Amino acid sequence: MKTGKQGVQKKTGLMIVLSSPSGGGKTTIAHRLLKRDKNVIRSVSCTTRKPRPGERNGRDYFFTTPARFKAMAARKQFLEWAKVHNHFYGTPRRWVVEQMERGRDVLFVIDVQGGKAIKKGHREALLIFLKPPSFSVLKGRLEGRQSEKKADLKIRLDNAKWEMREGRHYDYHVVNDRLGQAVSQVAKIIKKERQSGRHPSA
Ligand code: ADP
Ligand code: 5GP
Repeated sequence: MKTGKQGVQKKTGLMIVLSSPSGGGKTTIAHRLLKRDKNVIRSVSCTTRKPRPGERNGRDYFFTTPARFKAMAARKQFLEWAKVHNHFYGTPRRWVVEQMERGRDVLFVIDVQGGKAIKKGHREALLIFLKPPSFSVLKGRLEGRQSEKKADLKIRLDNAKWEMREGRHYDYHVVNDRLGQAVSQVAKIIKKERQSGRHPSA
């Protein structure tokens, strides 16, 4: 593993990035994957967005204020961070380093900017992009989730168009049509990468 200035220092577990447009199924698929594969653990990000009903601080995100977020960014406490759909999101660096040095595979459920930033510092990172079967299915799923107000929903759907284009930088693309199949495909990719020798210490 390469060493970025703020990166992970030792050769260890896999870095697995899962991205998609909002509503693409990242959270759902990550949840199922984590149940299935006990060597994979999820990085919990910091965010300045408000919690959704049912979300728990420290489990889904570390919910924080813009001022605290900025202070953390200034102290280089994020492995990467980005502004997404008008809120800030960042991956706490220290926890990731500790887990990877213990040999755990770390899953990052982050946006395409974050995925590209991680790949830049860690070329061996595995980038998986989830695609919806169609834009109308994506819209239906996002609306069905009922987690955003109309204006926020519009921002997310508008952003989905360039996020879909940015997906071209990813190593693998998985269409999230039937959930079970998509989860199996992601699990298969991870297994294949572990066995490939491209991740010598995995
Ligand atoms: P993301 O984390 O990428 O924003 P979610 O995992 O929250 O997306 O999924 C968005 C919505 O779509 C959720 O209500 C989820 O239950 C639903 N969903 C995800 N994958 C599928 C699928 N394959 N088939 C049907 N509904 C799905
Ligand atoms: P949501 O508000 O729907 O939970 O997340 C919005 C977007 O921010 C999603 O694409 C999600 O993956 C992304 N995101 C969550 N955490 C991070 C992070 O730490 N870094 C980056 N770059 N994106 C993140």
